Amino acid sequence: MTDTAHATAVDSFKSLRKTAKMPVIFLGHGSPMNAIDDNEYRRSWQALGAEFGVKWPTPQLVLCVSAHWLTTGWWLTAMARPKTIHDFGGFPKALFDQQYPAPGFSEAAQEISQSLRQPGSAIPLSLDLQEWGLDHGAWSVLKPMFPHADIQVIQLSMDYSRPPAEHYALGQQLKGLRERGVLIVGSGNIVHNLRTMQFGAPSNQAYDWALEFDQTIADYLQTGKLDALQDFQALGAIAQQAHPTHEHFLPLLYAAGAVDTNEAPQFFNASFQAASISMRSVLWA
Ligand code: ZN
Repeated sequence: MTDTAHATAVDSFKSLRKTAKMPVIFLGHGSPMNAIDDNEYRRSWQALGAEFGVKWPTPQLVLCVSAHWLTTGWWLTAMARPKTIHDFGGFPKALFDQQYPAPGFSEAAQEISQSLRQPGSAIPLSLDLQEWGLDHGAWSVLKPMFPHADIQVIQLSMDYSRPPAEHYALGQQLKGLRERGVLIVGSGNIVHNLRTMQFGAPSNQAYDWALEFDQTIADYLQTGKLDALQDFQALGAIAQQAHPTHEHFLPLLYAAGAVDTNEAPQFFNASFQAASISMRSVLWA
């Protein structure tokens, strides 16, 4: 699909009015407990959310790409009332008790699905009316950001069987939505190795390979080498160690795809949980 065709599709939206260009955010979500623990990460999400309606317009829609919704093909949630999904085990009841009743946005989901194409094909995105909802990659960060649950949220799934380049390409298709009041939020982690976690490690401590991979990606972002992100596996051993499976890296490709190389990133939460989860987060605004 050409840029022109994409622009035309977005121009015909009825559900989302034109706005100033919205920021793009990538959030390292880390432990699901960050949703309820009063820590530096949750506090930063609260502070960031509070800037909307002040520094930037209140989003008409949050489009969230979470590491935790993997599908065949790409899907958008299109139900009016997405359910809160507790897709984890072994956590306290207080976490399972969490609800995030943010509304969906069926009309926008329909229009967005028609304006986007499954990477490498002419097929629109698929619409999910009942299967998914909001998984913890989405609600654990959105609840602190927008605690009143009054902003409509749509999740976009990822086809993990497809190469990173296709995820980046779909991220590029999202760019036009930023001028329709859509806040794009990628939720994953720049380093994510659950096998090597050291519980209780201070947040300034991490493995050498974790620090190196995290810094390399930060350098790519800082210098506008966004195209290089899709080739992260070429970094070899450190990429393997940072992502034994790479579903937590992919949401960064959507966020980076939706920005221009001349938009400077601002980093925050640049520290680690359990020595092998990078919480580094990125704001392009
Ligand atoms: Zn996760």
